[in-house]
Amino acid sequence: MGSSVLDTSVAFLKGAGPRKAVVFKEELGIATYADLVTHFPFRYEDRTKLTPLSELAQKTHNVQFLGVVLSAETLGTTKSRQRFVAHIQDKSGSAALIWFGKTDWLVGRLVPGKVYLFFGKPTLFQGMVQVSHPEFELFSDGTPVNRGLEPVYPSTEKSRKSGLGPMQIGKFVRQVWEQFPVKIAENLPHDLLQRLDLPDRNTALRQVHFPPDEPSMQKARLRLKFEELFMAQMRLLRKRDLRKAQQKGFPFEKVGGAFLDFYKHHLPFSLTGAQEQVIKEIRYDLGSGSQMNRLLQGDVGSGKTVVAVFSMLLALDNGFQSVLLAPTEILAQQHAQSIQELLNPMGLKVGLLTGSTKTAARKVLHQALRDGSLPILVGTHAVLEDVVQFKQLGLAVIDEQHRFGVAQRARLWNKSTPLPPHVLVMTATPIPRTLAMTRYGDLDVSIINELPPGRKPVRTVHRHEAYRLEAYNFLKGQIQEGRQAYLVYPLIEGSESLDFRDLLEGFERLKKAMPEVPADLLHGQMKPAEKEDVMRRFVKGEVKVLVATTVIEVGVNVPNATLMVIESAERFGLSQLHQLRGRVGRGADQSWCILLTGPKLSEEGKARMRIMCETNDGFKIAEKDLELRGPGEIEGTRQSGDLKFKIADLAEDRLIMHHARAEAEALLGQDPELSLEKHQGLKRYLQVREESRNDWSMIS
Ligand code: ADP
Ligand code: MG
Repeated sequence: MGSSVLDTSVAFLKGAGPRKAVVFKEELGIATYADLVTHFPFRYEDRTKLTPLSELAQKTHNVQFLGVVLSAETLGTTKSRQRFVAHIQDKSGSAALIWFGKTDWLVGRLVPGKVYLFFGKPTLFQGMVQVSHPEFELFSDGTPVNRGLEPVYPSTEKSRKSGLGPMQIGKFVRQVWEQFPVKIAENLPHDLLQRLDLPDRNTALRQVHFPPDEPSMQKARLRLKFEELFMAQMRLLRKRDLRKAQQKGFPFEKVGGAFLDFYKHHLPFSLTGAQEQVIKEIRYDLGSGSQMNRLLQGDVGSGKTVVAVFSMLLALDNGFQSVLLAPTEILAQQHAQSIQELLNPMGLKVGLLTGSTKTAARKVLHQALRDGSLPILVGTHAVLEDVVQFKQLGLAVIDEQHRFGVAQRARLWNKSTPLPPHVLVMTATPIPRTLAMTRYGDLDVSIINELPPGRKPVRTVHRHEAYRLEAYNFLKGQIQEGRQAYLVYPLIEGSESLDFRDLLEGFERLKKAMPEVPADLLHGQMKPAEKEDVMRRFVKGEVKVLVATTVIEVGVNVPNATLMVIESAERFGLSQLHQLRGRVGRGADQSWCILLTGPKLSEEGKARMRIMCETNDGFKIAEKDLELRGPGEIEGTRQSGDLKFKIADLAEDRLIMHHARAEAEALLGQDPELSLEKHQGLKRYLQVREESRNDWSMIS
């Protein structure tokens, strides 16, 4: 049986027809039998065992239970209030059963003193366990108690209304298997299955829908999750290899004077092991003749800038110019300044081009870029304007990728001929490894997972906002010692005016509490020039306390700022809190972060605060964030459809994911073209997918 049967439209199923086929397609994305067979149950109703009545209270799904009927009667006089109530008990406890609406049929059906087998979903009502509208039948010694695991299929409200609820979907799935006893072709290599002790595809697909028991169901799911993640990794890795093979880049073969001179004589510190490693990776990439497309992840303060500098010096040694793009003017200024300081001893010049660069200075820059006398440019989006032309651009470093769109990337590529520049994207938002593998699986990823020595970790405490005064006193103390502080409010830019009032009130409150301390406001509704001005005065130390919204998030380096107080901290996500906190702890002094929360703090909120107090490790925090919120909600990945899997769950199935990646890498290492006999099933499967689903290649 080939794939043709599985390609049949669901319209041909008995009881479906064209009308239901439309609902299948629009609501559930199901067009063919194959789609239906991979429409996986999201849970199972367990009819394999009995739940003691004393344990009903902990159950949130339908369960089976036995009980002897104590009483059963119709209550309520008026028609609308009428209900049928039965009380049952077993050795462990008791429960109430209740039916509303038409209940005449129940009279006499539940006989006191007799034992029945029930099936239903328990709820707690006024401290009592209650099950409404359970299924039931008289129980005798011969009554089968194990009726298997019943699959529950995902459906939508609209599909349910059009006759495609979980039950009906289940019937159609059954029909496919019964109508066509298909043997679905294997797509994983036999030796891999054997080594990992996984069932074959046909068995797994059958048992995921009709599991004989719990262990087989788990095995089937494991196999299908592995398959899904493995195939995703195969596609990404093959795409990466293809890109590398096809996208030529300028070979930076020389490790020349500038690179070595800086490394040997002018580096003001010794590199951390992680920095060394990453620079090695970049050097290899840049010399390979393929275009580099590398993501550099490293927590705030991990020392990404110097890695960028080494890359730029490699470009220089090979006769190419470099550009570093920053998301804001202040960041561009700070980057330009710190890179210039590093390169001063070598007499190298760093240009700065932003929206506020004056016309005369602009002309000089344009000229120097065109004639090649300026090797390194730092700037904002202003760099992308068409008038900015390079003699020979070879490398673009992008600071913080999620503020940089595809169109802008294209403009950048056009500045370099005949080949595109190498690209190094730096981000301080650590992405959990699992997500990085999925989201950026076809890019090369470098990670700096080590901070320079001697850093004092920020100490974080969590307080109820009733202790705000205490926090203010602490703040006052820091200011008296000559330090600076941030006071942050959760204003999502462009949203509620109520939040805005909180911010202004907070500012007033602070001024009243310490009128002698120079404080100022920073928020998104200010004009860019005003914002820049406030920031500049904070950087200079004229402003001691910055009362701000999240606009400082991707902010600046003010080593003298040693305290951050975050108001209503429960309203921030973990990753965002971590980003904010990264603004302090950048100098030699001990830094602090105080998280204030309101009276309503959920369990999840508490967990977030606890994690923030426990660790400063951005990667750990990102992993926790993934656990708490699920993959769809993580910063910067929300819009990406590539995180949608049919059966795998990135938060839950991390181990499987890592396994799948490793196996995919090993397999491609051994057989990059998939030419071995044992890989033909896999190759066919991937080819069919690649032809029919271009969406995979559209990502990133
Ligand atoms: P980020 O990764 O946040 O961009 P930076 O590159 O700004 O970090 O580095 C933060 C600070 O650490 C800078 O002052 C930088 O000079 C310093 N630094 C970077 N690498 C090292 C190192 N290996 N040893 C000591 N200090 C370092
Ligand atoms: Mg930085």
